[in-house]
Amino acid sequence: MLPTTTDVLVVGAGPTGLTVAVGLARLGRHVTVVDGQAEGANTTRAAVVHARTLEVLEPLGVVDTLVAQGLHANRFTVRDRDRVLVPVPFGGLPTAYPYTLMISQEVTEAVLLARLTELGGRVLRPYTVTGVEQDAAGATVTFASGESVRAAYVVGADGMHSTVRAQAGIAFTGSAYPESFSLADVRLSGGVPDDEVILYFSPAGVLVVAPLPGGTYRIVATVAEAPKEPDVAFVQGLLDTRGPEASRAVVKEVVWGSRFQVHHRIADTYRERRILLAGDAAHVHSPAGGQGMNAGITDGVALAQALDAVLGGGSPDLLDAYGATRRPVAQQVVSLADRLTRLATVDRRVRPVRNVVLRLLATIPAFRRRLAWRLSGLVYR
Ligand SMILES: Cc1cc2nc3c(=O)[nH]c(=O)nc-3n(C[C@H](O)[C@H](O)[C@H](O)COP(=O)(O)OP(=O)(O)OC[C@H]3O[C@@H](n4cnc5c(N)ncnc54)[C@H](O)[C@@H]3O)c2cc1C
Repeated sequence: MLPTTTDVLVVGAGPTGLTVAVGLARLGRHVTVVDGQAEGANTTRAAVVHARTLEVLEPLGVVDTLVAQGLHANRFTVRDRDRVLVPVPFGGLPTAYPYTLMISQEVTEAVLLARLTELGGRVLRPYTVTGVEQDAAGATVTFASGESVRAAYVVGADGMHSTVRAQAGIAFTGSAYPESFSLADVRLSGGVPDDEVILYFSPAGVLVVAPLPGGTYRIVATVAEAPKEPDVAFVQGLLDTRGPEASRAVVKEVVWGSRFQVHHRIADTYRERRILLAGDAAHVHSPAGGQGMNAGITDGVALAQALDAVLGGGSPDLLDAYGATRRPVAQQVVSLADRLTRLATVDRRVRPVRNVVLRLLATIPAFRRRLAWRLSGLVYR
């Protein structure tokens, strides 16, 4: 199944690796994608695709399908129970996509994989990378099976616990937040609109309620200790103490749930000779602002362009330029997510003051506009 040689070996078939692969395959490059899992994950995980991500994905030929399959959320609001503190309308943004596209990561991955298949590519599974050795002419990648592949370049799109990053000796600097995040996709009746992402900054704590296609809602909350699998009673408790008051949102069913601990870390460099990093292998942060997968996909588009240019005879310096451009964006994304997370989790006694300050700031149109530009990613154009 494995080729002996390839132009680019992409390790990891998550949204980042698939984007790199489609970006190279459409330009006629020989790209090989491997993943250690026997099959792709079938869970929601990252559920937000921002306007800027759709813009950069345009040349890859997947945007129409994504836009048709996702739900268009026109507004983002920060609320304290029923009171709107900060309204952020996306409608006026100068883009072909003036909304947040709500779509399950499973669907985003399926759309990218279908495009890769259309271009003649495929994902080879299960192949777990255990070693990468470089020399002047290329890199030799070895697998748990004992097999090996020779590649001109290796892309580490193998997630937060990246083996490729470790093999390249690149440090992943940062730390973890003390809070744990509870996450559930639920069926609801009443209480919340179906075209708006809401971040509740309520006295009892933070809560995100976001509509998904098919009538479900994504619920995310920071709690001292999140249950392994949140049940109806747990999610109802979160909504009753932090969500809407005037019209109660009633949980009918938990479709999927999980919990996670959040880290904020960035790789010290995105390139070590013939090894390049992208996506969660290069940066991880809080889900506040829904930026993680978006940053990975945008890395993937930029990296495919740089690799294509170098394989076509361009200067390898273009690969350094990839890191020099994308790493500062990751720093900004990590900083935005960090600020939102700290604002969301301030001490209970400070929360009323925080909310008054936010309401005042929200009366300034430039503040609301800046927030819309940053959340949509258009600020990184
Ligand atoms: C429960 C959960 C909820 C989340 N919610 C959100 C959210 O609401 N918003 C948000 O923005 N983000 C969220 N995320 C994060 C989001 O899923 C990631 O940012 C995104 O998946 C990163 O994509 P990636 O392609 O870089 O890495 P990944 O999706 O992690 O893909 C890496 C791939 O590499 C493969 N791999 C790993 N090691 C090897 C190896 N040695 N050899 C071969 N293959 C290997 C893995 O099998 C995997 O398929 C969530 C994540 C989880 C787990």
